[in-house]
Amino acid sequence: MVKEQDYVSIHTHTDGSHNDGIISCDKLCEKASLLGQRAVALTDHNSLAAFPRFITAANKHDIKPILGSEFYFVKNAQQSIQTKDNERFHLVVIAKNDQGLKNLIMLHNQSWTKNYFRMHPRSVERGLLDVELLSQYSEGLIITTACYYGGVPQYLFTGDTDNALSLASELKDLFGEDLYFEIADHFIPDETKAFEHLIELAGKMEVKVVAAQDAHYLNKEDAFAQELLIGTRFGYYSGFKFPNDQFYFKSAQEMSETGLKDEYIINTSEIAEKVGNYSWDYSTPKSEEKTLINGAYSKTLTSLDALSRFSMFRKIPSAIFYAYKKLFKEGDPLDTILTEDPKIRKYFEQTPLLEHTVRTLSGVEVGLLPRRELFAAFSSMPPEKFPLERMGIFLISQWAFERE
Ligand SMILES: [Zn+2]
Ligand SMILES: [Zn+2]
Repeated sequence: MVKEQDYVSIHTHTDGSHNDGIISCDKLCEKASLLGQRAVALTDHNSLAAFPRFITAANKHDIKPILGSEFYFVKNAQQSIQTKDNERFHLVVIAKNDQGLKNLIMLHNQSWTKNYFRMHPRSVERGLLDVELLSQYSEGLIITTACYYGGVPQYLFTGDTDNALSLASELKDLFGEDLYFEIADHFIPDETKAFEHLIELAGKMEVKVVAAQDAHYLNKEDAFAQELLIGTRFGYYSGFKFPNDQFYFKSAQEMSETGLKDEYIINTSEIAEKVGNYSWDYSTPKSEEKTLINGAYSKTLTSLDALSRFSMFRKIPSAIFYAYKKLFKEGDPLDTILTEDPKIRKYFEQTPLLEHTVRTLSGVEVGLLPRRELFAAFSSMPPEKFPLERMGIFLISQWAFERE
């Protein structure tokens, strides 16, 4: 049986993951601590914005913070941008020490500024990392091949062994023993198949395998809240969602119960041991760091397709913003609203999942823009498209509208 202190989540998305993850840093560290885990790695997508609040939360709950990010990765970014290539992989990069942290910040900044990429006006913006950038800033970093969407597992899954081998070899030449092959088990047959090949390749290349949990929400019952957020992140209801409810922050025991080998689960603690204490003082960052960390986030918000989105906002009744402010701001008097308004209370009583979802999302730090989008999406969706649970949030907006 794997002990909780021998497992470290090395792949965790918080609400810093651009409307993809809904875990608050504080609740994340609290849960890890309650489970008896000693460290957590933060690996938000394309963003380092949550670093300060993650470090604060980790210190509060006596958890060792491991700073990382899950990048969008291609072999050659400029080529990929010019040819509008749809192929983009994931790659997890973790800072081992202060030098690694500097390089992680550089990689993040360079990928956003040099290799800024957006497929079309309504798609998600990205900064791309590539092999050349990685080789420039490789010192002090630990790399994992990321989830099923990592380059190596994707090549393996499609039977492209040559490319899988060449990419894995390039990464191994750069990172040596600091390269790990990452596997997970979210009960998805394609993923399982890709990871079987990855384990085989790990044996041949003498690379260690680590078992991860691609956590996007804290508990299993939060899956629907994450589905809401990710489904509306384009400013309209795209219907995009995860394949099942397995993307939550698991205990070592739950990891083991999925059938992942104990050895791979325990290997994660090797990564935690390699990571030292960072001396980086995020509370008074040097000016360039401030730009890099904060700038990355606001860039993402402000450089969204501002014009079209702004005109969309104007269509939203101000009452919906009122509801947004009242219901979706951290520390909101949701309970007061519940006791004051029997109509809302009734919706919640009829649909417990709705109440849970509203409460879960109300603690999530997301940029203003996506929250407005959430309401915009819900207020413009044809009612017949709504399953009952979703109807509730729509009704809350309507309710606010009627009140005004
Ligand atoms: Zn991924
Ligand atoms: Zn991920």
